[in-house]
Amino acid sequence: MKLNELKLDVDYFEFDEKLYQKLQATPLINPNLVSYNKKACDLIGLDYDECKSSEFLKFMNGEKLLQGSVPYSMAYAGHQFGYFVPKLGDGRAINLGSINGWHLQTKGSGLTNYSRQGDGRAVLRSSIREYLMSEAMHALDIPTTRALAIIDSDTYAHREWTEESCAIVMRMSPSWIRIGTFEYFAKTKNAKENLIQLANYVIKQSYPHLEDDDNKFEKMYYSLVDKTAELMAKWQVYGFQHGVMNTDNFSMAGLTIDYGPYAFMDYFEKHCVCNHTDVEGRYSYNNQPFVARWNLEVLANAMKEIASQEKLLDYLNTFFPQHENVYLNLMSKRLGLDPDKSSNTNLDLIIELLGALESAKIDYNLFFYKLTNLNSFNDISSVIDNAIFTEPLRAWFNSYKKSCEEQNSSFEDRFKIMKKANPKYILKNYMIEEAIALAHEQDFSLVNDLLDIAQNPFDEHKKYEKYAGSTPQEHSNLKLSCSS
Ligand code: AMP
Ligand code: MG
Repeated sequence: MKLNELKLDVDYFEFDEKLYQKLQATPLINPNLVSYNKKACDLIGLDYDECKSSEFLKFMNGEKLLQGSVPYSMAYAGHQFGYFVPKLGDGRAINLGSINGWHLQTKGSGLTNYSRQGDGRAVLRSSIREYLMSEAMHALDIPTTRALAIIDSDTYAHREWTEESCAIVMRMSPSWIRIGTFEYFAKTKNAKENLIQLANYVIKQSYPHLEDDDNKFEKMYYSLVDKTAELMAKWQVYGFQHGVMNTDNFSMAGLTIDYGPYAFMDYFEKHCVCNHTDVEGRYSYNNQPFVARWNLEVLANAMKEIASQEKLLDYLNTFFPQHENVYLNLMSKRLGLDPDKSSNTNLDLIIELLGALESAKIDYNLFFYKLTNLNSFNDISSVIDNAIFTEPLRAWFNSYKKSCEEQNSSFEDRFKIMKKANPKYILKNYMIEEAIALAHEQDFSLVNDLLDIAQNPFDEHKKYEKYAGSTPQEHSNLKLSCSS
């Protein structure tokens, strides 16, 4: 469809008007297109060619509204690094309405009532990061928001020690409701009424099968526990670190949202922290499932007026067993083993592997890719060539070999399983940094090439073979700033 033919639905104005703000975007100066995403166009039924038009730029920049669109920002609250902040909200995001179940939102389009001390802008660097990573996550089957396109501009914003050019990324999600939205509604005057309305809204949006259920609010919570346990397992399996797991960055639909100082871990390090400001390591790799559970406990508390807290917390006890199940299942596949066979042995094997990888300090995801292509146990040096301490990995290979024999699994059997689980490419921060540096010179080719790699990580991409190797040591497991 042409841009002008797209019709958006807005369904948020059923809420009390204190819970959102209707507003107009503040456009960027001299916007220009950095990249658009054909896969996202398909989701909303937009012709690709439309993205090259000046009308599309205006749409991205908030200067042109599609049919039916009434822009608004949402209020929410949240626990940031464990502390409750009563008033947050879309400080730089504006919702435009939904199409085909995808709620469109521009990030970086100016001040809102919720901007607090912020400037309502998003810099090019962080916008590229969000744009690319959401696509990379989707390609690994990790639930996430998506992104339609990104524009750059001649508007500048002050970040840390420099001025940086501002951008807008058009994000799309089946839902933008966060745990923090419930926390905000729970503190309003008509909390119960508002919470009932919000829970019904979330159910309609994300859990429609519960609409006629007698215990729908409790069951909504249970479903979110299930989804979040699965999401955390998937993050852990691929070494993804979110960086800022505050409750305002936690989706009621169980999606990865609000990409900030995230990272795919380069070498395996349990206590890895990718966010420079996270001095205590609250959101370290190893803590992620614990924090997710903690966030769900915050939600149970926010929902206490509309659901039995006892029942919610009781169900929350299934979180870790569920998480372990999915984790074990997917990690078994990364090792080429049948998850249904000898799950205890598989678990022991995985735990031993993590310890060995930690001593080896070799590239985490690359290890699995090399393992996929191993076709003789005489060749294990090809997998462990860069290890600092090789002995634990050699010992692990003995255990692995034993498990493979016990499970009657051949190299061919394992290859079939592993090739679907272990991509050749993982979108690492150092690669994105290279694309950002070029983008600052108005060369967007690498952004577009990385989009292709991110969306097709199992493909060969011969031209970019260099990105299939280990992360260069000087770029490994670096911490990133939260400023964006
Ligand atoms: P984050 O942890 O990046 O998702 O952001 C936390 C809160 O700060 C959210 O309410 C954001 O909307 C808000 N925020 C972050 N950066 C800015 C900014 N530059 N201008 C206005 N609000 C911002
Ligand atoms: Mg956020």
